[in-house]
Amino acid sequence: MKKIYPNYYKKFKCIANRCPDSCCQGWDVVVDKDSEIYYNGISGEFGDKIREVTAIDDDGDRIFSLKNGKCPFWNEDKLCDIYINLGEEHLCATCKKFPRITMDYECFTEYTLSLACPESAKLILSEDFTIPDNFQNYNFSDAGYNGKIMKFLLNARIKSAEILSNKNLPFNQNLINCLKFNNEIQNMFFPLKNENAEKYEDFSFLFEIYERLEFIDKSYCEKIKNASKFLPSKRFDKEFRRLSIYYIYRYYLNAIETLDVLSAVKQIVCAYIVIGALARFKNDSDIIKITQTYSKEVEHSYENMETLQFFFENSDGFKINNLIELLNF
Ligand code: SF4
Repeated sequence: MKKIYPNYYKKFKCIANRCPDSCCQGWDVVVDKDSEIYYNGISGEFGDKIREVTAIDDDGDRIFSLKNGKCPFWNEDKLCDIYINLGEEHLCATCKKFPRITMDYECFTEYTLSLACPESAKLILSEDFTIPDNFQNYNFSDAGYNGKIMKFLLNARIKSAEILSNKNLPFNQNLINCLKFNNEIQNMFFPLKNENAEKYEDFSFLFEIYERLEFIDKSYCEKIKNASKFLPSKRFDKEFRRLSIYYIYRYYLNAIETLDVLSAVKQIVCAYIVIGALARFKNDSDIIKITQTYSKEVEHSYENMETLQFFFENSDGFKINNLIELLNF
């Protein structure tokens, strides 16, 4: 089985209590079945505590309920009490894996890091990653999907990544070219209708959509609202090129199920416009923190991604002609 790792993947090391925004705050931790069985067998005070803070969430998952917005095992020294009391091997699967992400395409597997982790974000935005194009010999005979379409998508992803990483053009131009290219690809799957689309003067429609999202940090919506009149600065083009490759690598091949290649590119448009607005008057060094927070608040929220997807499909603002015109600044 072919395995693909970005160059930064193996460089990752958790910095634990030195982390500026730990994965132990803001998120419920889903506990896998094996860990649950193990935790249920622990005696004494610590075992009692584990059982006391374990609950079932609205989706039916077993979780550690947050205490003051933090994992109940994240102690005053910003270290994990499960790690300290039971050892690294008894962390639940979620904690053992994060921020490592596996994308399993049956005949090959791709790996990446989550941009929501500050150390990963630093790695992802600090170096170029070229998506490998040596997939010509992949064998799709056992795949539960159409191998020809997957090969087509792998080629289209390489072309999209080439367009997005072009250093000779400003990033907004790369994004326009990537939208145009993928619009053609999309038309091969399903011809798109652009007629009668309402024209938009600016990106305010997009910021209005963000006002409907749910954020962990309740002040995040206000921060986005306050930044909404600013457009991204060209001084962060290098970081946006790398960010766009992260998105295209991570999401483009979802089209094997949805036959929708444009959503991955629209995700990049959203990230570019919102992160760009938030970073407009910040120092160069702030872009990593701003991008990591965006990823935690938007990209890593299933509900927020679903809301955006709804508007990608239903809002005239996200029609390709509109996006191309608006990105031409
Ligand atoms: S967010 Fe990343 S660096 Fe921070 S504690 Fe979690 S895994 Fe470690």
